[in-house]
Amino acid sequence: MKALVKEHPEPGLSLLDIEEPQIQNADDVKFKVEFCAICVGETKVYDWNEWAANDPTLELPTVLGHEAVGVVSEVGSDVKVFKPGDRVTVDPLINCGHCYQCRSGHHNMCMDREIYGKRRGAFAEYAILPERSMCKIPDKLSLEEGAVLENFGIAVHAVEVESHDPGDLAVIIGCGPIGILAAQTLIAEGVNVVLTDLNEWRLKTAEKISGCTVINVKEENPRHIIEEMTHGNMADFVIEAGATQSALDQAFDLIKDRGTVITIGTFDNPVSFNPFFKMTRREIKLVSTIGRTWETWRRMVQLVESDKIKLKPYVTHILPMEEFAKGYDMVKSQNVMKVLLKP
Ligand SMILES: [Zn+2]
Repeated sequence: MKALVKEHPEPGLSLLDIEEPQIQNADDVKFKVEFCAICVGETKVYDWNEWAANDPTLELPTVLGHEAVGVVSEVGSDVKVFKPGDRVTVDPLINCGHCYQCRSGHHNMCMDREIYGKRRGAFAEYAILPERSMCKIPDKLSLEEGAVLENFGIAVHAVEVESHDPGDLAVIIGCGPIGILAAQTLIAEGVNVVLTDLNEWRLKTAEKISGCTVINVKEENPRHIIEEMTHGNMADFVIEAGATQSALDQAFDLIKDRGTVITIGTFDNPVSFNPFFKMTRREIKLVSTIGRTWETWRRMVQLVESDKIKLKPYVTHILPMEEFAKGYDMVKSQNVMKVLLKP
């Protein structure tokens, strides 16, 4: 079968013919991959930058791709929830199901976790994962929309980590798909949201999808605007999804004293700040989240089924897997939302 493989520690990817995976464990679920979206993190692996070269979880050669949707083709003898024909997506933080973190409900923190797309992945015609790492796609969603569920989960998990109330003001730094999905989730709960970015196309898209106030920080001073909107109190919480020094600086600049900054960005480089001036003196909390738990999945499905969240606007491009180079360039340009590859 055809698969997109990171073979060597150097820029580029290879479209190779590899052996089709076969069911080996009783809890394996094999599925035909219909679409797999390109993750921003994978553009770093594609380019082989310092972030990718220093990722201890990456084992080459590997098939890339973890934002996958497909149709079950075969199941192992112990699989109970899935059957051939089911439409599925995957939770890319593959958990053991037995450790302390898994048993306490935080399977995204599994102590023996494997990150999908680092040793095996879904830019391929077929893929296999254990039953416990798979989810059914709600009937309401097309397969294409289902490919956005991975990002939606990150957004919902980032939002659920901090308690908030209707009428609170949240600032989200970064108008990528996850930032806008977090905004939509918060709006569904009655929170007022302001999105910031430097990219005009992304700001316009964010405004169109979410109906939020957007600020182009190249043209306007977000501090003045948030001050005015909150009568000087500043934002109740900030989600930092920009992953740069200036994004983190902006987060500290816009948060109220005793507020919470939630960082979810994939930073390429270390950042620096003085915790005493930025946090201690103001009793700021800095927290972070990754992935999602099963409780997050439950909330996501209910948000989708109640029509509070529409995933369709996020699928801006679908390309055959052979055009992967074009797809990666589009994601790097930032003038897209999700680019799906079809094996
Ligand atoms: Zn575990």
